[in-house]
Parts: sequence; C-alpha cells; structure tokens
Amino acid sequence: MRCIVLVKQVPDTKNITAETMKEDGTVNRAALPAVFNPDDLCALELALQVRDRCGGTVEVLTMGPPRAVDILRDALSRGADKAILLTDRRFAAADTLATSYTLCQAIRKMGDVDLIFCGRQAIDGDTAQVGPQTAEKLGLPQVTYAQEIHEKDGKIHVRREVEGGYEILALIPPALITVTGGYVVPRPRSAKRTIQFRNANILPNITTQMKMKFPDQSEEAIKRQAEEEAARLKEKGLLIDVWSADDIDVEADRIGYGGSPTWVFKVQKVTLQSGEHKSIDASETGIHSLMRELVEDHVLG
Ligand SMILES: Cc1cc2nc3c(=O)[nH]c(=O)nc-3n(C[C@H](O)[C@H](O)[C@H](O)COP(=O)(O)OP(=O)(O)OC[C@H]3O[C@@H](n4cnc5c(N)ncnc54)[C@H](O)[C@@H]3O)c2cc1C
Repeated sequence: MRCIVLVKQVPDTKNITAETMKEDGTVNRAALPAVFNPDDLCALELALQVRDRCGGTVEVLTMGPPRAVDILRDALSRGADKAILLTDRRFAAADTLATSYTLCQAIRKMGDVDLIFCGRQAIDGDTAQVGPQTAEKLGLPQVTYAQEIHEKDGKIHVRREVEGGYEILALIPPALITVTGGYVVPRPRSAKRTIQFRNANILPNITTQMKMKFPDQSEEAIKRQAEEEAARLKEKGLLIDVWSADDIDVEADRIGYGGSPTWVFKVQKVTLQSGEHKSIDASETGIHSLMRELVEDHVLG
C-alpha cells in the first residue's frame, strides 16, 4: 500500500492572544511555539499500521514555512519513509480552498497512491475542511472521523465515529481517510530513528544556516557550500525534498492569499464568565431570537 499522510505544523493554540494576531487577521506563526497537529499524529499512526500489516510505504506531505521541516523530522523519527515540504511565499495565508488545491496538485505530482490520510481537524483553523476538499478535488471516495481501520478481501474497513457510537464502512482504494484524535495512540519517536534523522534538513534552511555561519562570504560561495552540504545529506538519505509553486502545476490565482475567498476577519480569545447565561424559550420564536442575537454578535454568519 502506498500511503500519503497530510500533516500540518500548527501554532500551539493554547497560547493564542490578540498580540499574536497580525492586522490582516492571520496568525503571527513566528510568535507561537509550533507543534505537530495532534490529529495528524493519529493519521500518521494509522498509515504506519497499514504499512506494518500490508507492506508498502508511508510518505508525509506538509505545506508550510521552512520551519515546518521540524514536523517532517518528527514523522521520519516515528517511522515515515519519505517526507516532502511544500513551501513558497506564494502559498502563504491560504484558506482551506487554496490549501487543499495546493496539496492536491502536489499529490498529483507524487503519482498513484492507495490511501491518503489526514487529521480530522487542525487546532488552529479548526475547519476540518481540508481533508474532504482534497478528496473532492482528487475525485476520491472519503471517510471522515476514522478511529481504526483493517484490510479484508481487498477492501479497507473503517470504523468511524458517529454521534452516540460508531459505524463501519468499507471502501476500495484509492481513497482519503480523515482520522479523529483521542482513539488511536500515536507511536512514540524511536530513539534510533530520532538520532538517524536529527540532521535531516532542506536546502533553504541549509542556505540560511550557511549565511549565519559565514556572514562575510559572497552569495555564490554560500550557495555552493549549501549545495555541497545538501549533496552530503542526500547521500545519507537526510535531504528532505522541497517543492515550490514552480515544482507543482498550480494556477497562480488559486494559491495563497490571492486564491483564498475566506479571510479571517478577527480572532479574539473568548473567556466565558460564570453567571453570563440566559434562558431561551424552547419554542420556534425562542430559537429564532437566539439565532438573531448570535448573528448580531458575529458569533454566527
Ligand atoms: C483562527 C483561524 C480561523 C480560520 N478560519 C478559516 C475559515 O473559516 N475558513 C478557511 O477557509 N480558512 C480558515 N483559516 C485558514 C486555515 O487555517 C488554513 O486554510 C489552513 O491551511 C487549513 O485549514 P484548517 O487549519 O482549518 O485545517 P483543517 O481543514 O482543520 O485540517 C484538516 C487536515 O488537513 C490537513 N492539512 C491542513 N492544512 C495542511 C497543510 N498546510 N499541510 C498539510 N496538511 C494540511 C491536516 O491533515 C489536517 O489535520 C483560519 C485560520 C485561523 C488561524
């Protein structure tokens, strides 16, 4: 089975404050500790379990800034076979439509795949939209909220969370599966692989490190040294592939900020004070007045 896992580096949203939001409503990611999106660790675990049972490979793909290489190293330390970073300033501030489109085009470049795994939801945007959007764009069947999966008679049987219980669905690959957290226990990083991949890196970061190490050297000299270092890492299987907008077939007006019909108007931390409650008459009028109030307060709509 060839499995691809979509993983996202997210700001540790437990620390989101007004100060960490930029004027344009996007998150100032540099101001927050970055973590591996929890549901994506569960998605990676299910993919690794499939590979352990059926053979094949697990490749992880992320769209993000160069520092997202940290979660790719983490995924390699947990058992992933290959990692790809999609990074380009032109991808920045993408909403889910632009994100799923960009991921789609990268998956098309990767070629035939049996199963695509992703988390149910990212803890920053919290939309749970990217998985289903990616499946739709690739024309693949999808199962969301997966808890566990097993293979039988050429089919993939998925146990998925539903209100009040679970259901089991069967599907024939290729397909996309979104995985819900709190059920699958991600395997820890193996000590051996953590040591093996601790120096895994990408050319952009190597170049930045060279510039800091040799500030007086010319651009050319830095570039040459960075490429030599990258070649050394590649030989050891430690050079992580980096794809920019020029490496995947994308339309410029469908990526990043420009390709995003959704703009985040404002993010604010809401702390509910006790005593702030209101009883609503459980009638149609009561519900209607509640909806009107929520819309007026920009909680909805
Ligand atoms: C506070 C806030 C609110 C936002 N609200 C909206 C909104 O209402 N509508 C909107 O369109 N955008 C919104 N965004 C932007 C949105 O976060 C980005 O588009 C983001 O790239 C994808 O959406 P998500 O974080 O909701 O991911 P989700 O759709 O919740 O992610 C589901 C899964 O998709 C995969 N995935 C998501 N992003 C990536 C990635 N970059 N690389 C690899 N895999 C990935 C992961 O497996 C993840 O678990 C918001 C952002 C913030 C910070």
